[in-house]
Amino acid sequence: MYDFIIVGGGILGMSTAMQLKQVYPDKRMLLLEKESGPAQHQTGHNSGVIHAGVYYTPGSLKANFCLEGNLATKAFCEANDVPFDVCGKLLVATSELEMERMKALWERTAANGLEREWLSAGELAEREPNITGLGGILVPSSGIVDYGAVTRAMADQFKRMGGEIRYNSQVTGLEERRDGVVVKTSSDEFTSRYLVTCSGLMADRVIRMLGQDPGFTICPFRGEYYRLPKQHNDIVNHLIYPIPDPSMPFLGVHLTRMIDGSVTVGPNAVLAFKREGYRKRDVSLVDLAQMFSNPGILKVLAANLRPGLAEMKDSLYRRGYLERVRKYCPSLTMADLEPYPAGVRAQAVSRDGKLVDDFLFVNTARTVNVGNAPSPAATSALPIGTHIVEQVKVMVEG
Ligand SMILES: Cc1cc2nc3c(=O)[nH]c(=O)nc-3n(C[C@H](O)[C@H](O)[C@H](O)COP(=O)(O)OP(=O)(O)OC[C@H]3O[C@@H](n4cnc5c(N)ncnc54)[C@H](O)[C@@H]3O)c2cc1C
Repeated sequence: MYDFIIVGGGILGMSTAMQLKQVYPDKRMLLLEKESGPAQHQTGHNSGVIHAGVYYTPGSLKANFCLEGNLATKAFCEANDVPFDVCGKLLVATSELEMERMKALWERTAANGLEREWLSAGELAEREPNITGLGGILVPSSGIVDYGAVTRAMADQFKRMGGEIRYNSQVTGLEERRDGVVVKTSSDEFTSRYLVTCSGLMADRVIRMLGQDPGFTICPFRGEYYRLPKQHNDIVNHLIYPIPDPSMPFLGVHLTRMIDGSVTVGPNAVLAFKREGYRKRDVSLVDLAQMFSNPGILKVLAANLRPGLAEMKDSLYRRGYLERVRKYCPSLTMADLEPYPAGVRAQAVSRDGKLVDDFLFVNTARTVNVGNAPSPAATSALPIGTHIVEQVKVMVEG
């Protein structure tokens, strides 16, 4: 019998496992991951940005955990020799409408307690000669890191403290009893006093295994990237973001300096026809049937039909994609868009057809389950792990 089993070897599962072991060093713990190593899904396919907390509703879990997570991630990387770079972020307005939206964002950054600087068009050009805009907001605390490396460092700590990790172990069934939880995998059966699940794109399915109705369904959105050729590695000094349209859930195609020195363009947000499907041609009939029979998802798709189709068009025709970046980086050409692997976001959609905005947890008597953890959950992984451990402590200690 284990004391704790954690499902999911992404950054949230590893952060939780590591912190649980720090709090309960003598308890028996096991982490189960269906892939052959850690960080194979969202955590290993993202922009690698240590967000500062610009966009999030003041007082939300996202706003609070992102601010805390920004500092905690940098401190963790420093302590564990994981390379990171605090290169700062520039939000660039390219039209009068975006200037108006930028003012609203400026207020929000104040409410979220961020250090930031308002840049005129001239100041913007001085800092970023290859970027064109009417003005910008500089957020110096944003940075970059490889979240796969952060997750591996967390796994190492967990194992050093005596935690057990089993890869290639897909959880196929869960049964919560009065005194514990039975966890079935394709080849084994375990029992544990308590269970934490951080299963990303499979979150709703894993929660359903417990006999719970999560009240939401995961809708997968592929985020496609390109990489700029090596000669453009110094094209920008900061992360360059557009001013987001407040009616859209994602941040818009940005220029991201990666920790390996390259620069990526992306991600867009295209409805994916397969959870964990990274290529355009990946289709799962089971996933499709579930999506298109779900009233909440159908409502979201209907409400976002035009922008959704525009995303698909620009996904198929690179010229449209390029034009989005050329708005603020006009020197880029089609030849500059080199292939780069996509990621798939797990976005919870509620039964009444809303994209769940904040982080969401579903608890039962002996389990804590992460339901919705989109961006900035990688940045926020340490405070999210702490939050989960606090919830577990209440279960254990009453
Ligand atoms: C394109 C993109 C860009 C992003 N950019 C950023 C960014 O710049 N900054 C940021 O902070 N966040 C970003 N995010 C968000 C961030 O990557 C995620 O929020 C975060 O990685 C979520 O971590 P996780 O552990 O919940 O999920 P995951 O990393 O997806 O891990 C879940 C794990 O659970 C495992 N699993 C699922 N079901 C089972 C089962 N039945 N049995 C065993 N194992 C199972 C999966 O194999 C997987 O390894 C981005 C996301 C995407 C997709």
